[in-house]
Amino acid sequence: MSDVDFIKSHLGSHPDFPKKGIVFLDIFPLLRNPVAFETLITHFIHRLTSHTIPNSPTKKIDVIVGLDARGFLLGPLIALRLGAAFVPVRKRGKLPGQVVSAEYQKEYGTDIFEMQADAIQPGQTVVVVDDLIATGGSAKAAGELIAKQGGMTLEYLFIIELLFLKGGEKLDAPLYSIVQSD
Ligand code: IMP
Repeated sequence: MSDVDFIKSHLGSHPDFPKKGIVFLDIFPLLRNPVAFETLITHFIHRLTSHTIPNSPTKKIDVIVGLDARGFLLGPLIALRLGAAFVPVRKRGKLPGQVVSAEYQKEYGTDIFEMQADAIQPGQTVVVVDDLIATGGSAKAAGELIAKQGGMTLEYLFIIELLFLKGGEKLDAPLYSIVQSD
């Protein structure tokens, strides 16, 4: 079995969660299996170290940005293996000190993402990580926070991409997903 199929076989699927009509894709079964979790992180590391990232011929990645909340479960592991910094993007009001903010669209209304204002230095290269991209609204807001601090986003990484929502079209850098769902 390929590592992609192995990762895919450990994803959960929950119809009508969190409400009727939505099929919620669940990464926690993957994290419960240490071999599957290791395969996932190694897959991301291989992706980030074995192909040429546009705008970064040296492939050097300074910062991994993880999105609230499941991006926090993946980002630090990837950052440590790369010797990069980890920076969280959190929902409004959770981070101390000076923050930069960006608004994004949710299904109903808007929400605000924040990052600590000194978290990224101008010119640093950044990769954004989350479990899943749907509309791309949250990843786009993270990209705005990185750009506000003068960072350069090289790539957006996800375990799962909901293809029909075309979230990648909103982003300012290439998207890589391991599993694509219609
Ligand atoms: P977007 O901003 O519309 O791309 O939504 C992506 C965010 O919603 C991510 O932080 C995901 O964790 C979360 N999300 C949306 N649908 C699902 C799902 O089916 N499973 C897990 N997370 C989801």
